[in-house]
Amino acid sequence: MASGTIGSGAAEPVLSVKGLTTSFRSGDGWKSVVRDMSFDVAPRETVAIVGESGSGKSVTSLSIMRLLQKNVSRIEGSVKLAGRELLTLSEEEMRHVRGKDISMIFQEPMTSLNPIFPIGKQIAEALTCHQDISFKDAKAEVLRLLEKVRIPNAKGRFDEYPHQFSGGMRQRVMIAMALASKPRLLIADEPTTALDVTIQGQILDLIKQLQEEEGMAVLFITHDMGVVAEVADRTIVMFRGDVVETGTTDDIFNRGHHPYTRALLSAVP
Ligand code: ADP
Ligand code: MG
Repeated sequence: MASGTIGSGAAEPVLSVKGLTTSFRSGDGWKSVVRDMSFDVAPRETVAIVGESGSGKSVTSLSIMRLLQKNVSRIEGSVKLAGRELLTLSEEEMRHVRGKDISMIFQEPMTSLNPIFPIGKQIAEALTCHQDISFKDAKAEVLRLLEKVRIPNAKGRFDEYPHQFSGGMRQRVMIAMALASKPRLLIADEPTTALDVTIQGQILDLIKQLQEEEGMAVLFITHDMGVVAEVADRTIVMFRGDVVETGTTDDIFNRGHHPYTRALLSAVP
């Protein structure tokens, strides 16, 4: 794992968020649910955002990806990817960023997979839609990706449907799809929350291994401090829309002083 600290000044951050404030329409006005959030993620670094349900973690990631419905939401501040401001890009440019530079994985892989198409075809499509590559080459690349995420008998499973995969295997498929575009940044929003504990550990190990192999930056969202300890170099603690504490994961665990951080830590076995 990288040992980046805030403002270490080494490499340019992959992601740089400054003063991010996201609000939703509420009655006649606006209600902010994420307020004045600032953080960087360096190359090869994993930064965790931790907080209980409703604290604004998913809204933060959806704001970075500009996936919130426009007429009911307002995003202020700055979100830079490798120095390029995302909040002022056109929709078309942003679609390109989503297809190429940033990938996301979510809690329930089934909702992101199409139930009526075989797994191999879905990943191949993710490849062909953003790269100039033939279906034959795409198929070879899909097999490579399925093997990379350690799906046993990848070749035999190419033509199987999502329901034929277990929850853990489906999340591996989603990770393979996320890697297809060789993103600079992977945003993982509670990717292990829906999985059994033993499978959770396997998926966390896989993400860590892939990060080392691929060199991407990871923004890892979770409500679970146990998971934070497993994956994160640095940690941001959110509570009801505000960042209450931020530091190296080691600092948060050993010297975290905010009462809410202490409460989260007391839940770790
Ligand atoms: P978390 O991911 O930390 O569990 P969220 O980011 O999903 O929390 O939600 C943060 C807050 O924003 C919650 O109070 C939620 O109800 C509110 N919220 C999320 N999405 C919307 C939306 N589309 N419209 C209005 N409020 C929303
Ligand atoms: Mg969430």
